[in-house]
Amino acid sequence: MDEALALWQKTLDVFKQEISPSDFEDLFSEVTDVYKEENGYIYVIVPLQFNKYRIEVFYREALNEILKTLTPETKKFKFITKEEVEKEKAEKKINPLITPTEQQQVHSRTLSPIYTFKNFEVGESNRAAFLYAMKVAETPQKLYNPLYIFGDVGLGKTHLMTAIGHYILDNNIETNIVYVTSQQFAHDYFLATNSKNPANNIESFYNKYHNADVLLVDDIQFLENKIQTQEEFFKLFDSLVNQNKQVVITSDKPANELKNMMERLKSRFNWGLSVNIKTPDKNLRVNILKSKLLTLIKDPSDVPIEVLEEISDYFTNNIRDLEGALRTYITYCVCMNLPFTVENIKEALDGILPKQKGEQKDDKNANLIMVVSEEVAKYCHLSIKDLTSSSRKQQLAYARHLAMYLLRTEYGIGLEEIGDSFGQRDHSSVSHGVDKIESMLQDNNMAKMDVENIKKNISKALKK
Ligand code: ADP
Ligand code: MG
Repeated sequence: MDEALALWQKTLDVFKQEISPSDFEDLFSEVTDVYKEENGYIYVIVPLQFNKYRIEVFYREALNEILKTLTPETKKFKFITKEEVEKEKAEKKINPLITPTEQQQVHSRTLSPIYTFKNFEVGESNRAAFLYAMKVAETPQKLYNPLYIFGDVGLGKTHLMTAIGHYILDNNIETNIVYVTSQQFAHDYFLATNSKNPANNIESFYNKYHNADVLLVDDIQFLENKIQTQEEFFKLFDSLVNQNKQVVITSDKPANELKNMMERLKSRFNWGLSVNIKTPDKNLRVNILKSKLLTLIKDPSDVPIEVLEEISDYFTNNIRDLEGALRTYITYCVCMNLPFTVENIKEALDGILPKQKGEQKDDKNANLIMVVSEEVAKYCHLSIKDLTSSSRKQQLAYARHLAMYLLRTEYGIGLEEIGDSFGQRDHSSVSHGVDKIESMLQDNNMAKMDVENIKKNISKALKK
C-alpha cells in the first residue's frame, strides 16, 4: 500500500506542473490517500462524487500516462469516493472472513446504493408511502402483503422500494432480496421457456424467484397484456405470500386500473396495502434539491436558496427531471466558471428548461430525443452519459443503436439531428446503428422484446 501511495504522490508531483494551480487546488488538494491496490488498479480516494466524475472525464488518462513512466509494472488509477469506501468497509465488517456469496453479489449489483431511506426527503405528497415502506422494512414477512406503491413516473417509487431492500439487508445480510423490474421478470420467463435447454433454465428461473425472502417488483404495469407471464407471476406471488415472504410492488396506476391484467392478480394486489405517491409541493422540491446538492459540490452554501427555488418552479411534476436540471446547472456553472446565480439558470439550462414555469417544453424533437434516451438508458441500466459517450463497448453500443433506431423509425427524426444528440456522431454512424438493429430484429427475439418494451415505456412517458 505504501508503494501505491508513493506512486500516487509522485504522479501528482509531475501532474501539478501540467495543470493550472487553481484547478489543481480545486480537484486534487484533498486527494491524498489511497484505499487499496487490486488487480493492477490503485484506488485513490476522492472526497466527492462530483470531483470523481471530473477527474475521470478530464484527467484520468493523463494521470495514467504519468504513472506509466514511474513504474515498469502495468498499473492504472481508479477513483473511489469516501462514501464508496465506507460502504465497502461496512460490507466487509459484517462478514470479514467469508467472501461475498453469489447472492450478496447480486444484491450489491441490483440495488442502487444511492436509494436509501436516509436520503429520501419526506413531504405531504409522499409521507404515507414513506411511513408504510418503513413499516414493511422494519417488519418484513408480516404486516402488509403486498405493499403496493403507485404514482406517476419520477416521483420516487423505485427509490422507496430500493430503500426497503437496503434496510432489510442492513439488519440481516442473509436475507435473499430479489429486486426485479416486471420487464426483467418477463424477459427471464421468456428465456426460461424459450431456450434450447428449457429444463436448466426453468430451474434457474425457479431458483431465482421462488427462493426470495423479499420480492421487489418494479413497474408492474409492464405485465399488462402479457397473460402468460401474469399466470407465472401469479403462481410466484401466491407461493411467496403463503410462505409469509414480503412482496413489494410499484406501478404507475392503482391495481384496479391495470388493463388486461388477470382479475385474480389485481385482487391479490388489493389484499395488502396500497399507497399513492403524489406530485411534490414546492417545499419538498426545494428540500430534495438541497439534499442532492450535498452530493454535487463541496460547499452547498455556495448555491443561494433562490437558485433552488427558481429551478424547482420549473420542474414541478417529475423529481428525476428536477434533479437532472440541478446537476446540469451545477456542472455548467463549474465548467464555465460562472457564479451560481439565478440569472445563469437560463443559460445553463438552455434547451432543457420548459418555456413556462411548470410546463413541459414545446421543442418536440428535443423532448422526444430526451425521452427516448432516458427510457433506453433506464431499460438498459445505463446513464444517458453512457449513451452519448464515445465508448464502443458492446452493451453501450447496443443501447445507443436502440435509441437511434427508435428515434429514426418511430419518430422520423433526421440522421444528423440524432447524431448531434449522441456525442456528435456523423449521419453514417447513425445509419449504421439503425441498420444494425433492423437486421437484429429479423431473427433475434431478445432484441425484438427490448424494442417492444422500450416502445411501450416511451409512449407511456410521452403521455405524462
Ligand atoms: P419512479 O420510480 O417513481 O419513476 P424514482 O424512484 O426513480 O422514480 O425517482 C426518480 C429520482 O428522484 C431518483 O433519483 C430519486 O432518488 C429521486 N427522488 C424521488 N423522490 C425523492 C425524495 N423524496 N427524496 C429524494 N430524492 C427523491
Ligand atoms: Mg421507477
